[in-house]
Amino acid sequence: MAFVELKDVVKRYGNKLSVDHLDLTIQEGEIFGLLGPNGAGKSTTIHMITGLLKMDQGDIKVDRISVKNDSLEVKKRIGLVPQDLALYETMSAAENVAFFGKLYGLRGELLRNRVSEALEFVGLQDRAKDKPETFSGGMKRRLNIACAIMHRPKLIIMDEPTVGIDPQSRNHILESVRTLNKMGSTIIYTSHYMEEVAALSDRVAILDQGHVIASGTQQELRERASQDEKIIIKASHISDQVIQELRLHPRITSITADNESIELSVPSSQVDLQDILFICAKHQVVIHSLVCEEPNLETLFLSLTGRTLRD
Ligand code: ADP
Repeated sequence: MAFVELKDVVKRYGNKLSVDHLDLTIQEGEIFGLLGPNGAGKSTTIHMITGLLKMDQGDIKVDRISVKNDSLEVKKRIGLVPQDLALYETMSAAENVAFFGKLYGLRGELLRNRVSEALEFVGLQDRAKDKPETFSGGMKRRLNIACAIMHRPKLIIMDEPTVGIDPQSRNHILESVRTLNKMGSTIIYTSHYMEEVAALSDRVAILDQGHVIASGTQQELRERASQDEKIIIKASHISDQVIQELRLHPRITSITADNESIELSVPSSQVDLQDILFICAKHQVVIHSLVCEEPNLETLFLSLTGRTLRD
């Protein structure tokens, strides 16, 4: 069942279209990755889903409720982990989480239980009494997640939650996204990191200049990305003869080489490493390493836009 539906959504800033007639459907129970370079319109889109930002055109429904008609009901169903931290530095971690709980109408024992549950979930139960001003960037980010999930929202939206944090907190956050999803929440996860979106998402939409340039399951997107797999061989004793012979191979579609490496493109379904290794051995190439790179979301973005995600 569709849990979030965006139809023909437009947002302008002055003359600039930040979100350009966007259609998106997010199914109940999935982790949906919104991937795109900086400025693609990811934050603008999710702020419209949460009702924090008004759209100029179109409609958004969350759990079949229109954001335009009843943004309060929509807000109750959403936990937003914003890109910019929303924490009170002078209140303790527990007080911060409780503050958000009160906004959602939680009181008394239920509030206390939810605060400790949320802090435990993000691994900050030992720091409940400490103020976030004493926390690392990653811990603050985790506290922000605790604030966003403590009312057990059906939809959790995370806007670039791993930017600028340490690897340990990053892994903790990625794992908590999976756990929250297993516990029943639908997740929208925005990032300009291809690896994160690839590791987490059931389905992905790639956003560029305010509109979706590709969407589907990862398998569907990989199939669109390119027919070719890249093989990178680091080696020495690379001669013109070996390059010539590799060039003549019927399944190798392109080849570039220098003194230290050979890069080959081969149709994904037909990679024939035996042949390639045999030709290299015949010409006494000394191979130091060999890597096969499958087409991925980054190569798809590149092939559709001519740019890399992190331009
Ligand atoms: P992303 O989250 O993908 O990095 P954003 O949604 O933040 O992208 O921005 C999309 C586009 O809208 C960018 O070109 C950005 O400069 C512009 N934009 C976002 N917010 C504002 C604003 N408050 N005023 C003017 N332009 C904005």
